[in-house]
Amino acid sequence: MSVGISYPLVSSGVPAACAVIERRFAMDVPFLDVKNQYAPIRDEVLAAITNVVDNEYMCLCNGPSVRTLEAEISAYCDSSHGVAVSSGTDALLCSLMALGIGAGDEVITTPFTFGATTGTIARVGAKPVFVDIEPDTFNIDASKIEAAITDKTKAIMPVHLYGQVADMDEIMAIAQKHNLHVIEDAAQVIGATYKGRKAGSFGTTGCFSFYPTKNLGAMGDGGLITTQDDEVADKLERTRNHGQTGAYIYGWVGGNFRMDSMLAAVLSVKFKQLEGYTARRIATAAKYDELLADCDGVITPTVREHNKCIFNQYTIRVPNRDDVRAKLGEKGVPSVVYYPLSMHQQPCFASLGYSTGDFPESEKAAAEVLSLPIEPELSDEQISYVAETIKSSL
Ligand SMILES: *Cc1c(COP(=O)(O)O)cnc(C)c1O
Repeated sequence: MSVGISYPLVSSGVPAACAVIERRFAMDVPFLDVKNQYAPIRDEVLAAITNVVDNEYMCLCNGPSVRTLEAEISAYCDSSHGVAVSSGTDALLCSLMALGIGAGDEVITTPFTFGATTGTIARVGAKPVFVDIEPDTFNIDASKIEAAITDKTKAIMPVHLYGQVADMDEIMAIAQKHNLHVIEDAAQVIGATYKGRKAGSFGTTGCFSFYPTKNLGAMGDGGLITTQDDEVADKLERTRNHGQTGAYIYGWVGGNFRMDSMLAAVLSVKFKQLEGYTARRIATAAKYDELLADCDGVITPTVREHNKCIFNQYTIRVPNRDDVRAKLGEKGVPSVVYYPLSMHQQPCFASLGYSTGDFPESEKAAAEVLSLPIEPELSDEQISYVAETIKSSL
């Protein structure tokens, strides 16, 4: 059992550093241990960094490291283009800006998501319009989208939550019928498939994140936009660099959404491990499914038959969630609530005029979900310990 420094990205109720100082628990289980992940590839990472320092110190978005990463990720995601950007959030923002979505426009999305999804819609001046989720997959309920379309709707922004792609056949059919863009929030699904096709290959754009908690995590913030459309790719590249259509000529307003060479070089090293990381997450999920199958009160994740879920999170439902979470914390098992409050109930969106009760499935999920440790470095013993601790905490 390795006893490393667990980075307390989230509070498990237990200061992570305690694991190093004293063994308070029968077993130490990290939620995310970045050091663990870098150890086996340390030399390769350092060589990649040295190469950037020696050869492309000043190259930003058009240097060989960034171009290589764009080619690798876009090919991996069944997409003709990849545009590397500064974060997953900026992938969404850059997409909205490049597609000219702004004041007076509406974008349909899910209320059960991370703040970046709805935040970027609001930041370009558009209005997020919510549609409730499917209770079993936690993804937007495509059968409810059409009723939310108005003459102001410009795009649908589905979020593929926890590692599983939303119902893209239905979403794309609706988008085509009403002439809408689809911006896939694919931050949590790199490599996931729907009917054999990769996440991020369906919409006008697919927006990926390399935040350290994602399946392909960078040493810092990064993101990438995929698209099949040559013209959109060109617009994204220019929007990433302030909307420049020529040197210091600005065709429209963009931003500085560039990715640094150093980050891209390290990501290319980690990309070679991605299939392995994901296979291990899927195996861990299967083990949890098995160990928690006879556990009354726990609902394990549903994966649609046509989907390959990459388990960015393994998220269960438990009715007395906060109690269970506290008990897990007392025994050294970290867990996280993604997400405790639906977007339509957030203080920052009070002016949208939604009320509690408007999206009951999202609200119920927010009260019941609990994500368990699933990082690829977990040992079989740690996985069993998490499952046992859940059973004894119910
Ligand atoms: C992580 C995440 C983002 C934002 O990505 P960053 O790289 O952290 O900016 C957006 N949407 C979802 C669903 C995410 O999980």
